[in-house]
Amino acid sequence: MNNTEFFDTPGEKKLTIVHLYPDLMNIYGDRGNIIALKQRLLWRNIDVEIINVSIKDELPKERNLYFFGGGQDRSQITVAKDLARLAEMIKKDIENGTPALTICGGYQLFGHYYKDQNNQKLNGISIFDIKTIAGTKRMIGNVKIKITDIIPDTEIIGFENHSGQTFLGKNMQPLGKVIKGFGNNPKEKKEGVVYKNAIGTYLHGSLLPKNPKLTDWLLEKALGRKYPDFKLSPLDDELEEKTFKEATTRF
Ligand code: GLN
Repeated sequence: MNNTEFFDTPGEKKLTIVHLYPDLMNIYGDRGNIIALKQRLLWRNIDVEIINVSIKDELPKERNLYFFGGGQDRSQITVAKDLARLAEMIKKDIENGTPALTICGGYQLFGHYYKDQNNQKLNGISIFDIKTIAGTKRMIGNVKIKITDIIPDTEIIGFENHSGQTFLGKNMQPLGKVIKGFGNNPKEKKEGVVYKNAIGTYLHGSLLPKNPKLTDWLLEKALGRKYPDFKLSPLDDELEEKTFKEATTRF
């Protein structure tokens, strides 16, 4: 596969987004996150390159931001086997501060393992110190969380559908506190994880189009590493805020 899309602008800056396994891990609007990242860059005159990396593909040379969506257990088995090949490079990037957004199945595979309903253990790449074990009840519905640390006073919303229950290692920070919904597991009222500039979350949605602060957080981290002292210019988020408000009426 390894296909590339390139979007040119009159500007001089460029960001390369690596989309991991888009053909196998892409449910409940996950691709909308790529569209939101791309569009908020183009609005600011920053060129965007989106590189799709799937089975047997190599990672590109330039890797400014990773996105990894969710998938059914069956796709996850295929992906888990192939991902081991790329683990070392991705791990190094995350350790060096490359931002990443991983969702549900992708989030689980950035952890140590996912044990499915049949007790089959899928090994992840241990970027996050987390473990996921499938429960008997699916956690489905809209979710609202309050971000704990990375973006002050910010709530985000999305949609979750998973049976995996995720537990964080003791030094891992959750992304947020659950206000509505389940999040990582039914007991703790915690959602997702943040490690360096990598985020794991159960929020599908699409997540980013209606949570622009989170989109900009990822973009700012990616651009800040490539172009020191870079500051994102503000955008008019009236429509995004309206969408957020509308979505919160649907709980
Ligand atoms: N298979 C995983 C689970 O149900 C992931 C599902 C998803 O990505 N939505 O826990």
